[in-house]
Amino acid sequence: MKPLDELTFDNRFARLGDAFSTEVLPDPLEAPRLVVASEAALALLDLAPAEANTPLFAEVFSGHKLWDHAEPRAMVYAGHQFGGYTPRLGDGRGLLLAEVVNSAGEHWDLHLKGAGQTPYSRMGDGRAVLRSSVREFLASEALPLLGIPSSRALCVVASDTPVWREQQERAATLLRLAPSHVRFGHFEYFYYTRQHDELKQLADHVLAAHYPACREAPNPYLAMFSEVVERTAEMIAGWQAYGFNHGVMNTDNMSILGLTFDFGPYAFLDDFDARFICNHSDDRGRYSFSNQVPIGHWNLSALGQALVPLVEVEALQGALALYLPIYQAKYQDLMRRRLGLTTAEEADQALFERLLQLMQNSAVDYTLFFRRLGDTPLEQALEVLRDDFIDRDGFDAWGDALLARVLRQPQETQAERQARMHGVNPLYVLRNYLAQQAIEAAEQGDYSVVRQLHAVLAKPFEAQPGMERFAQRPPDWGKHLEISCSS
Ligand code: AMP
Ligand code: MG
Repeated sequence: MKPLDELTFDNRFARLGDAFSTEVLPDPLEAPRLVVASEAALALLDLAPAEANTPLFAEVFSGHKLWDHAEPRAMVYAGHQFGGYTPRLGDGRGLLLAEVVNSAGEHWDLHLKGAGQTPYSRMGDGRAVLRSSVREFLASEALPLLGIPSSRALCVVASDTPVWREQQERAATLLRLAPSHVRFGHFEYFYYTRQHDELKQLADHVLAAHYPACREAPNPYLAMFSEVVERTAEMIAGWQAYGFNHGVMNTDNMSILGLTFDFGPYAFLDDFDARFICNHSDDRGRYSFSNQVPIGHWNLSALGQALVPLVEVEALQGALALYLPIYQAKYQDLMRRRLGLTTAEEADQALFERLLQLMQNSAVDYTLFFRRLGDTPLEQALEVLRDDFIDRDGFDAWGDALLARVLRQPQETQAERQARMHGVNPLYVLRNYLAQQAIEAAEQGDYSVVRQLHAVLAKPFEAQPGMERFAQRPPDWGKHLEISCSS
């Protein structure tokens, strides 16, 4: 463990030079104060939990102070937004402050979101509001615990700096951590501006820093693309299995490391709804829950297009063709675990689909269904759960199929079964209404609710006495909260 002012830096991306990013200093916020910090994220930087409570911490992460060896830069990238290409986006309100090397030798990008205007801000003010910063913080730290790769969040800092959205709000910052902030849109930028030398330089950087094993392959760029296909497919399988709707899967929000990245109006499903759209600006449902699977493929093909100067088209297509099989294998594996299945059978996918259809028709709570399935022996659990379904006969038939299926696998005690199932079926997920309650308190200057919610979500599988209210279905007001894109 070390103090904040003794971090070690190695700013690899900054060294790529001005074609890739622009030097910009953070613009400090007024009256900064810490809203919440993640102990787990602090540990990634070898920082003790107490570091977050020092005055220096809030000063650094609100742009007032900087390490001598930091090299803050705004990255340039482009991207397909809702299917249309925007030739230049870039960090309009975030800065890559520095790359930290921890004691395990891992590199972590420190990205300060809400750091002020940059050459890429276009009409924007370069700021982030408190509500969106809290939402990104909570999700970043919750997803990895469900086994879903994600960028991480060190802290949120609130301020008195006013910002104007639909109404006046106050600016905040979020310190995001990720091994890399390179997005699909970085490659698209250099491809479409015909800067093919820089495209290669970027690919070489990503290979050296993040996919060193791919450099041994006959075509390292193809090997890297195949890895990205695999990681993206597996990440999306995690979203689908756990009911996570990202909401803005533009290619500039897709991480080259297959991390859940750039959280906007995301949501965890309450009631199961395949057609759910968390982003209320997404009129046509391009990024609806069930569309995430084909959109993952679409985005990977946009990345593949940008790699054409480096890899033969047929080879890229061959790698892309593996997306769906990889997705399906991972999704089925996760769903089997969620249902308590320890073996694989051909008909399992049909079993999942029938369950989801029944849930959809009866608006069954997606998280609690799986949790309750493990609470008691299967026959008993089915007896209780059937009450949530309108089509009882349909549910009974499904339950009989599951029971028969379970009898064909090695038997275990209920205690063993429960431990295994509860280990993959969270009791607590980041429901929209819980985030909303935490945000409303934080906007009044009360940070205790955010901190408590963060602490509960740090142990999603463990029943925590006194925290029952965090495991409840939403009240009526919290069912259809509209989360806007403005953040
Ligand atoms: P996002 O919706 O956060 O993925 O952002 C899409 C693009 O808009 C990125 O280039 C952002 O940097 C930029 N952007 C979003 N909000 C702002 C803002 N308030 N000020 C400047 N640029 C912004
Ligand atoms: Mg973005």
